[in-house]
Amino acid sequence: MLKTKTLSRQAIGRFPCAQCGAVLKYAPGTTHLTCDYCGFENRIEYRAGIIQEYDLQEALRQLSAPRTEAPKAQIHCDECGAGFQFEANIHAGECPFCGSPIVTTTTQSKPIQPKSLLPFGINESEARQQFQRWINSLWFAPSAVKKYARSESKLTGVYLPYWTFDSDTETDYIGERGDIDYVDEPVQVTRDNQVFTEIRRVEKIHWTTVRGRVYRFFDDVLVGASNSLPRKILDALQPWDLEQLIPYDEHYLSGFRSEYYQVDLDEGFDHAKQVMDSVIYRDIAYDIGGDHQRVHQVRTIHSATTYKHCLLPVWSAAFRYRNKSYRFVINGRTGEIQGERPYSWWKIGFTALVALLLAVGVYYYLESTDALQHSQSSTYYSMPYYNINRY
Ligand SMILES: [Zn+2]
Ligand SMILES: [Zn+2]
Repeated sequence: MLKTKTLSRQAIGRFPCAQCGAVLKYAPGTTHLTCDYCGFENRIEYRAGIIQEYDLQEALRQLSAPRTEAPKAQIHCDECGAGFQFEANIHAGECPFCGSPIVTTTTQSKPIQPKSLLPFGINESEARQQFQRWINSLWFAPSAVKKYARSESKLTGVYLPYWTFDSDTETDYIGERGDIDYVDEPVQVTRDNQVFTEIRRVEKIHWTTVRGRVYRFFDDVLVGASNSLPRKILDALQPWDLEQLIPYDEHYLSGFRSEYYQVDLDEGFDHAKQVMDSVIYRDIAYDIGGDHQRVHQVRTIHSATTYKHCLLPVWSAAFRYRNKSYRFVINGRTGEIQGERPYSWWKIGFTALVALLLAVGVYYYLESTDALQHSQSSTYYSMPYYNINRY
């Protein structure tokens, strides 16, 4: 019977102004929602609560149990009366008909809910300034890109889902330690068609098998859980001031897009393990010591592994240039920018040409003033001559 049920209405958060009733948006860098209409500052009530860590093994056990996906609920906009659905990955955004900010509950669609977030610290115009500074600092970027940066194109404020993992690790390894020994060896040398034997110091690496154990506790290894941006960009947005995380509160989402996680918990932990492995590998190399290290076998046991699921704020912009899409992301707390950038081959070619012409010009100038005296090959004048030739 449930199957034939029509779309249910999704519970949505709406944040009306206490003074005039208009729909409110969160104002970055503050703890209130500012009314666009009457200017009233509606304070967001402080939600007490500590940011908890959750047991990973327990969560993975629960997730492995069969679970029926809830049908995607219809959202009803109280402002204009429209009924619609968000894109699959979104749980907060704007009503496509009237632009009102809408935040839906996340309980229906995903088994794990975000429990904490970092609110936006910088607003759109501050983010745009950062973006323009960055793009103007790029060498050889096409003019179309710089023009885009100057135009009033919209940046989108998005809360992106992240996993963080803590883990206590213990790693047994087998490897080899290489120590450099210098030995004097006879070497055959040919000189004037005669063969001589000379004694030379030669570097030899002396390898010994080693076994050992290293320990490391990892705190808050961050893994992006969104597929809408390349992992390279997601991971490069660090550092985040995770110590400032506050308990999840829909008020901070009002007026922004917010995504569900698309990278599952187990997949996220697999990625975190890769991040941890590279640190463990360095620990092993340090533990082995010597001049060179080889690692043959590694076995890591993770214990007391916990996770958190949080939302982190970014301003993002994408644009198309010559049929390719380039994305830029700005850390909504620090203003740090990561992005893909196009190169203008025309500009690079032109710059190279100008450099060449300059070099030729300087050459002829020096020659006409008799500065270059090829015949006499004076050491004093040979320097500029070489510099020119390098172009
Ligand atoms: Zn108001
Ligand atoms: Zn609407």
